[in-house]
Amino acid sequence: MWKRERLVSDLQAMRVREGDSLIVHASLRAIGRMEEGADTFLDALLEAVGAQGTVLIPAFRLERDRESDFPAPCLLQREGAVSSRHPLLPFAALGANAAFLTAGAPFHYPLGTNSPLARLYQLNGGALLIGVGYAAHAALHLAENWADAPYARRRRLVRVEEDAWQEMEGSPECSAGFGKIEPVLRQARLLREGYVGNAPAQYMRLQQAVSMAREMLCGNPESLLCDAPDCEPCTQARRFTRRQDVR
Ligand SMILES: [Zn+2]
Repeated sequence: MWKRERLVSDLQAMRVREGDSLIVHASLRAIGRMEEGADTFLDALLEAVGAQGTVLIPAFRLERDRESDFPAPCLLQREGAVSSRHPLLPFAALGANAAFLTAGAPFHYPLGTNSPLARLYQLNGGALLIGVGYAAHAALHLAENWADAPYARRRRLVRVEEDAWQEMEGSPECSAGFGKIEPVLRQARLLREGYVGNAPAQYMRLQQAVSMAREMLCGNPESLLCDAPDCEPCTQARRFTRRQDVR
């Protein structure tokens, strides 16, 4: 049974520091049993970043991410927690920079410029992956936008009210190929690796990870797409990039 104090020292061992603003993608299942479950984990995060730090978590209303099970409501119950406004891809935040991160989130390109992720990048924030793979690493979508990958402009119909739909530009699609950047980041020594409870964990600076992803995409716009032959978004994305080459 993991206690808060132990999780705090696990986070500190990966050089999570007081004053850090960070996004957390975590599997509570992978961490293992904790005294008060998700609250123990959240308390450990808040203690590690201290009063000047900020914890940001995605509260996406998407089906596909089954790995991360650290629920945004757990954070939103806390006093002072705020949420960005987006019908599909909102974020929850708590801490010194929570309002800055979540204010004025754009409807189009929800994981691009001016999004909570872009603001976190601006603050030189960090990303924690705990017991989850890179498919959860939403900040890499920033690189797709900023490298102007042709497929990053895709549109999707989003339900904005009970019976109102609106077309959203810049829809982030499949992230199953994001793991392709992991060996590159490791080789560049940009990953601080450790364990949180039983879960293997990584901590990295957003600016470094996103710059590296951007370089990969500028070299080859297909470099972060997945290789599943039946993946519709990635097949379509390859068609987009090849059509651009021809032009
Ligand atoms: Zn894919």
